[in-house]
Amino acid sequence: MDHYRVKPASKVDLSKWDPKDKSAFDGDKELSKVRLKYLNHKLRALQEVLYAEGKHKVLVVFQAMDAGGKDGTIRSVFKGVNPQGIHVASFKAPAPEELAHDFLWRIHKRTPGRGEIAVFNRSHYEDVLVARVHKLVAEKVWSKRYDHINCFEAMLADEGTTILKFYLQIDKDEQKKRLQERLENPTKHWKFNRADLSERKLWDDYMAAYEDVLSKTSTEQAPWYIIPADHNWYRNLMVSEVLVKTLEDLQMAYPEPEAGLDKIEIE
Ligand code: ATP
Ligand code: MG
Repeated sequence: MDHYRVKPASKVDLSKWDPKDKSAFDGDKELSKVRLKYLNHKLRALQEVLYAEGKHKVLVVFQAMDAGGKDGTIRSVFKGVNPQGIHVASFKAPAPEELAHDFLWRIHKRTPGRGEIAVFNRSHYEDVLVARVHKLVAEKVWSKRYDHINCFEAMLADEGTTILKFYLQIDKDEQKKRLQERLENPTKHWKFNRADLSERKLWDDYMAAYEDVLSKTSTEQAPWYIIPADHNWYRNLMVSEVLVKTLEDLQMAYPEPEAGLDKIEIE
């Protein structure tokens, strides 16, 4: 699963990453559904031990361009997981109170506690993406944020948080197809947002901003994965594989029972 992992301090050129890649799975869409179902079962079991053990915290970050598939990925990958053990935080444009604070203030509050999985649908990375592309803050402000983010994530990791970050990579044509679908399919009209079209015009600026994010903030403790996302089924599968493998590597166990349980008789 190291296939899509960004090595720390490597320079990412997104034109060299193929959003249509399917090379890490030896099968087609039909077969992927069987595998995904199996991984869903595994995740369900792992989440239960995570919760029971109450030791680890897990943070999963999703970033993508509009229509990149963050919502669909979250829906598929976490299907069937006990809703009590997982929190999804969707970060929209900051409210006035949030803007009055540092950019990590609203983020920190949504990080996972022990035994929990927190899923970020967009994240603090917007503060070096949209904030940079739209010049919402000066360069001397956003340019320092990569270090701030690395320090913040290192602190979370040192305090027991396992961090995974996924950039779902679609190409510009695929985005066009998906936005078109939102215009044509009545059940998707609600998802259509005119602002997505103006954002689309800034595609190249976003790519440059993403390349900096991926080059500067993929660390041992908080790695980025660049997931080929033009094929939904492949994207879901890859995210699921990485997540399940990472949780398995934590070698979690149910807590030891207290002494004398075998002597208890329930009347
Ligand atoms: P979809 O991919 O389906 O369009 P979405 O995640 O784009 O879903 P929206 O409600 O359309 O959801 O958009 C959220 C908006 O909030 C995005 O345009 C994003 O750039 C913006 N946003 C998030 N965080 C920040 C931030 N820190 N500063 C400014 N804008 C932000
Ligand atoms: Mg949007």
